[in-house]
Amino acid sequence: MAERAGYEVVIVGGGIAGASLAYFLAELGLGDVLILEREANLAVHSTGRSAATLSVIDEVPTLQEILIAAAPFLRSQPPGFSEHPVLRVTGAVNVFEEESWEKVRTTLPALAEQGLECQALTPTQCAARVPVVDPDTFAGGLFVPGDGRLDVHEILSSYYRRARAAGAELVLGAEVESFVVEAGRCVGVVVAGREVRARLVVDAAGAWAGVLARAAGAMDIPLRPHRRTIVTFPEPEGVDPSDWPFFASDAHHLYFAPEAGEMLLSPMDEDEMAPCDPKPDDEVIAAGLDRLSRLAPGLVPRTLKRRWSGLRTFSPDRVHVVGEDPTLPGFFWLAGQGGCGIESSPLIGGVAADLIVHGETRRFDAKRLAPDRFA
Ligand SMILES: Cc1cc2nc3c(=O)[nH]c(=O)nc-3n(C[C@H](O)[C@H](O)[C@H](O)COP(=O)(O)OP(=O)(O)OC[C@H]3O[C@@H](n4cnc5c(N)ncnc54)[C@H](O)[C@@H]3O)c2cc1C
Repeated sequence: MAERAGYEVVIVGGGIAGASLAYFLAELGLGDVLILEREANLAVHSTGRSAATLSVIDEVPTLQEILIAAAPFLRSQPPGFSEHPVLRVTGAVNVFEEESWEKVRTTLPALAEQGLECQALTPTQCAARVPVVDPDTFAGGLFVPGDGRLDVHEILSSYYRRARAAGAELVLGAEVESFVVEAGRCVGVVVAGREVRARLVVDAAGAWAGVLARAAGAMDIPLRPHRRTIVTFPEPEGVDPSDWPFFASDAHHLYFAPEAGEMLLSPMDEDEMAPCDPKPDDEVIAAGLDRLSRLAPGLVPRTLKRRWSGLRTFSPDRVHVVGEDPTLPGFFWLAGQGGCGIESSPLIGGVAADLIVHGETRRFDAKRLAPDRFA
């Protein structure tokens, strides 16, 4: 259990959101921090189940900006941040059907203005990079050369290493049971029947963030968890995919990439469900493989090796929720990480830490993340 009865900041949830906040608080000199994680191990939920990809192209403009702003940290980490590089640069290709492609092309100048290096590719140029795809099944693609695959474990442990060196305490197997509210202010949490007080309590509970906010009496923001599935299978025979980029098709609703001698694929499912430990659905996987047979028939596997699902939790506009609750002072939201919580963490963790320590941030327009946009 927590060593002391009171802390400056208590963070509920030890996934990438909580870890990145603890890191950036440490960078700002705040180490009087307690992180409470219900599970006995780290990365049991969304953080440990992701596709571990940095792919900054996103159809939601605010997310697009967040990802472009967060990526430099992952492409070139601060000195001493991690023991190993956290990004393996492979590039990423996103392909689109005609209507979406027309729209995406109009965003190219804005992407360049935001400093993103990317190239528009014809279907044939896309197929030159990933020779198994049928170029007649999409209208064009964007190639981002600086994108790639992330080492999530390394990122998470690096955030924690720095935070703990600054004094932060991480307690596993510690479930927050309720919140302490006095005179309309959240002043702590109850764990294992014991009160732990804090100037600020941060809700970084991933899929459970909405449940906890309701329990505390904060704003009722409808955060909705959606299941996403990943499968792996053997590499196709007679082909060496090791230098393929991450490949996502909006037209076929799936993505794939080579992964340590196997192929990783997601049918990009989005089934809404209550917070839980989700299991893969065979029909969803079969439908994804059917779409794969149209995009890349030579890639369709005979057998699958591994399969898993996790939850991606979205706010109503699909953008993160970061900031103090407007109706319950002392309760701070760090939720709604959706499908990009790993790659956005260097920006979002920094914004949250700035707001907690300085009450403002220069990293991003905090109003676009604030909980009161849903008031
Ligand atoms: C299949 C899949 C693929 C994805 N691919 C990518 C990708 O390629 N790139 C990317 O950036 N993102 C990706 N994501 C999204 C990313 O994984 C999430 O956005 C991110 O992990 C969310 O982090 P989190 O810390 O908010 O949540 P979590 O990792 O779920 O952490 C929240 C923690 O809170 C704890 N908790 C809950 N309630 C309590 C309580 N009462 N007391 C104490 N602790 C509590 C939970 O045990 C949990 O560990 C993917 C997600 C999935 C499912």
